[in-house]
Amino acid sequence: MSIFDELAKRDHEQVVFCNDKESGLKAIIAIHNTTLGPALGGCRMWPYATEEEALRDALRLSRGMTYKSAAAGLNLGGGKGVIIGDPKTMKSEKLFRVYGRFVQSLGGRYITAEDVGTTVHDMAWVWMETDYVTGINRAFGGSGDPSTVTAYGVFQGIRAALKFKTGSDSLSNLTIALQGVGQVGYHLLHHLVPAGAKVVASDLNQENIKRVNHEFAGIEFVEPDKIYDVPCAIFVPCALGGIVNDETIPRLKCQLIAGSANNVLEIEDKHSAELERRNILYIPDFVISAGGLINVANELIRYERRQAMRQASGIYDIVMQVLTIAQEEKITTLKASKTLAERRIYSVGRIKHTYVGSPLAKRGRGLG
Ligand code: NAD
Repeated sequence: MSIFDELAKRDHEQVVFCNDKESGLKAIIAIHNTTLGPALGGCRMWPYATEEEALRDALRLSRGMTYKSAAAGLNLGGGKGVIIGDPKTMKSEKLFRVYGRFVQSLGGRYITAEDVGTTVHDMAWVWMETDYVTGINRAFGGSGDPSTVTAYGVFQGIRAALKFKTGSDSLSNLTIALQGVGQVGYHLLHHLVPAGAKVVASDLNQENIKRVNHEFAGIEFVEPDKIYDVPCAIFVPCALGGIVNDETIPRLKCQLIAGSANNVLEIEDKHSAELERRNILYIPDFVISAGGLINVANELIRYERRQAMRQASGIYDIVMQVLTIAQEEKITTLKASKTLAERRIYSVGRIKHTYVGSPLAKRGRGLG
């Protein structure tokens, strides 16, 4: 594998390899694009089988963050950290503090956060060594659990998609098939139920099902595998990735798919095209689930939950823009979301061509 060829393929700016013998830290920080602002993305800890696999994951995920931030209208670029190791056995204060020092050494080009295999608790150690970490505990001035904001953004995205498809954004009496009533799914119910939706749900976790049954009347639960067969207006995946695939697509009886689950299409291009062929409107997860990212972006300014919620309500308009591009340009909604992001990066990148003075110029340097 040629590292520079890999970087060139998707136009990555920088990759940093971090090594510390004493703590056992082996980490890769990938910065994809910083046109809009500092590269933000979580730090994943995973027992990768090979270093190549870790690098590929960092490159893929950092690029995804560029698109997610750009489409959400944030002034952030895309980055991702990966720590090679088993999160069950290899975590220590030392490891995360060393990781924090590497993040700090990038001077703000990369901002880290929790991700698969890392927790808010781990980020508290990172925070001891760097200014460039988000998603930390509210006790440390952070924004805490983002899932209420994510759920609100998903709700707004669902309403926009409905409006586009049917002319009305009312959920009254519509059947929703909700996969997963964990953090996001549970908070989403607080919007769907008052809006008059009839919810059929599934989950593997009995505690989470109990919590829902305790709080809401009239939610019907089906066996996890049966959720794909529920006749409904909207299928809302809020559990796992890869569940929209060759096996499940023929079973779906919905007009719309809109939920928070990351990477919900098993094979992006193939399955987005197949959904379109079947006249099922798919709202790309990286657009509709941006509330969590909006939440941590607010932490970088001065966190106020109300402001984060207000910004997440903008997902309604963003989904409308995506659907309009898809319709006008006769492309899938997935392609339209990427087009929206790319156009923003290009046009905002252009404004930076305007000279606004610089400290170097004042000192007589940087003029040549
Ligand atoms: P979570 O772990 O709190 O909830 C997931 C729920 O799905 C759990 O209750 C789990 O038991 C259930 N589940 C797992 N497999 C299932 C199956 N086969 N069938 C039915 N239920 C199943 O996670 P979350 O924070 O609610 O996130 C849900 C999804 O949204 C994830 O894909 C996550 O990456 C994505 N997401 C979350 C946020 C956020 O703010 N939490 C932001 C963006 C994207």
